[in-house]
Amino acid sequence: MAGNITLTIIKPDAVAAGHTGKIIDHIIQAGYQVLAMKLMHQSPETAGKFYEVHKERPFYGDLVKFMSSGPCVPMVLKKDNAVEDFRKLIGATNPANAEDGTIRKLYAQSIEANAVHGSDSDENAHREAHFYFSDLEIL
Ligand code: ADP
Ligand code: MG
Repeated sequence: MAGNITLTIIKPDAVAAGHTGKIIDHIIQAGYQVLAMKLMHQSPETAGKFYEVHKERPFYGDLVKFMSSGPCVPMVLKKDNAVEDFRKLIGATNPANAEDGTIRKLYAQSIEANAVHGSDSDENAHREAHFYFSDLEIL
């Protein structure tokens, strides 16, 4: 059975552009409950650790720089089928390929500065939720 938790991050581009409130509202209107949320300006070390799986990809260095360039908003979200439905809600990694009405289509600037993160599996959702919220007891 699919899990009911996913981890998102409103990325520095969207926070800097003033889209935080609209994105949170979009997520809540889609039926998600916010279990945890914080605003933080993370260090390159923290961003690098979060994206460790992409260490060998050519864009890793730039991605770490971008994710530590300004404040972002990690959030733990709850809903049935959370991971898969959230990936649909945010749209394709490259906003140019994202469907109309998706968060990335509405708010992203580029394939790198693409407004939001969304976990890609239940296992990663739990790992990522604990990464930012180590004291969240319900997980
Ligand atoms: P997603 O966030 O859709 O799961 P990935 O896990 O493949 O996408 O990549 C992680 C993040 O790395 C993306 O959200 C984006 O910010 C950045 N990224 C992915 N592909 C590229 C690329 N080709 N060039 C620059 N940045 C990229
Ligand atoms: Mg991913």
